[in-house]
Amino acid sequence: MKAHDGMYIDGAWRPAAGRDTIDVVNPADEQVIGQVPAGTVEDVDAAVRAARAAFPGWAATAPAERAARLTALRDVLAARKDEIAETVTAELGSPLAFSQTVHAGVPVLVAGSYAELAATYAFEEKVGNSTVYQEPVGVVGAITPWNYPLHQIVAKVAPALAAGCTVVLKPAEDTPLTAQLFAEAVAEAGVPAGVFNLVTGLGPVAGQALAEHPDVDLVSFTGSTAVGRRIGATAGAAVKRVALELGGKSANVILPSADLAKAVNVGVANVMSNSGQTCSAWTRMLVPAARYDEAVELAATAAAKYGDRIGPVVNAKQQARVRGYIEKGVAEGARIVAGGPESPREQGYFVSPTVFADVTPQMTIAQEEIFGPVLTILRYEDEEDALRIANGTVYGLAGAVWAGEESEAVAFARRLDTGQVDINGGRFNPLAPFGGYKQSGVGRELGTHGLSEYLQTKSLQF
Ligand code: NAD
Repeated sequence: MKAHDGMYIDGAWRPAAGRDTIDVVNPADEQVIGQVPAGTVEDVDAAVRAARAAFPGWAATAPAERAARLTALRDVLAARKDEIAETVTAELGSPLAFSQTVHAGVPVLVAGSYAELAATYAFEEKVGNSTVYQEPVGVVGAITPWNYPLHQIVAKVAPALAAGCTVVLKPAEDTPLTAQLFAEAVAEAGVPAGVFNLVTGLGPVAGQALAEHPDVDLVSFTGSTAVGRRIGATAGAAVKRVALELGGKSANVILPSADLAKAVNVGVANVMSNSGQTCSAWTRMLVPAARYDEAVELAATAAAKYGDRIGPVVNAKQQARVRGYIEKGVAEGARIVAGGPESPREQGYFVSPTVFADVTPQMTIAQEEIFGPVLTILRYEDEEDALRIANGTVYGLAGAVWAGEESEAVAFARRLDTGQVDINGGRFNPLAPFGGYKQSGVGRELGTHGLSEYLQTKSLQF
């Protein structure tokens, strides 16, 4: 695993301003696999200056040229897929097959979608006697989490570059090697110097310096609601654009007419994938009272099959946090039917795939985001009760609805206070807008909605 000891600023790897470093740890065996520099305010400032200097040139580049660079970026990501998957597995711990298909595969699709959008999007339109232009917002400060290390980066950088913005990225401290690999890919794709810059470092230092930098025009943040709230406040005080992709506690609503076995099995797989570290995971399964026991048995059997094959969680802190939630679930009266708080292995930050039955809507494990392989199963009496429970958290990021007829599921999904809903197991669509209602965030990523986050509107009258 190659680790750069500098920052990627203005088209080259430059020495960091300070001497502090961050250890990168493999969560499967707790071994240090590399070190990256811990960026300081000076590094962030140098990166923002490079992005500012590159902005006028990149903003004036023809959309076809931006599309060509993004196509090249997609091709480099595709060509280096194996290396990307191995790097993600080494620093995040996800099983290699999942890293190959999802962690390395999805960013290729997303980069490709923005190559196409850059070439085809109407950056200019006539409205009566006006011409309306969509212009790039400026310098973007992008702050990303570790759970999908490359996807989170590409979902911000690709639309920003397509729009004509320049970027400074501060990736999560747990997964900086994937971010360094991405910076190499950007360079290989022929993106001009200064258009994309990378500063590795700690959130409260480098992240905060980026969010507060007066020459950043838009802060695009994905991460916890707690940090998102602070970034939103900082941006608000500076009257600065902000996009926030935050936490979730999504409901998987199984209506009485649904294929129960399918809905439960897909639901368990959804929660266990990536060791439960997916913001949109359907961690609350809602089942009609009449079929509750059957659903619990199906879910317990499905979860037990995973064992420790799901991979560890990202770090020791996350492991302790998830196990703490499992203990809290027991203390508040929920019943464990699979897994539990004990670690399934002596080494590595593993958590057993865990399923809780007899969960009531107000319990902590039914309200708070656990971000681990923990499923809660709640019973409902009728559809109105299901809706109340499904909408009864501060979050509204995603969800699922299952019914015998699609139209029945759609009617229910339309009443959910949430940004994205899968109907009867609908597939991931890289062009569909993704983002939250309520405290799950502000703004949307992916597709044209994701592109418009990085644009501002100007109209000329004739
Ligand atoms: P986090 O908020 O701790 O960190 C996210 C990023 O913010 C990291 O790069 C971190 O270094 C940085 N950061 C931390 N403190 C900061 C500060 N004071 N100022 C500026 N930056 C700071 O979140 P995490 O633990 O890395 O990720 C897990 C969270 O992310 C979960 O809550 C999850 O739901 C959320 N998430 C949301 C989405 C979405 O699209 N809605 C996607 C993935 C993850």
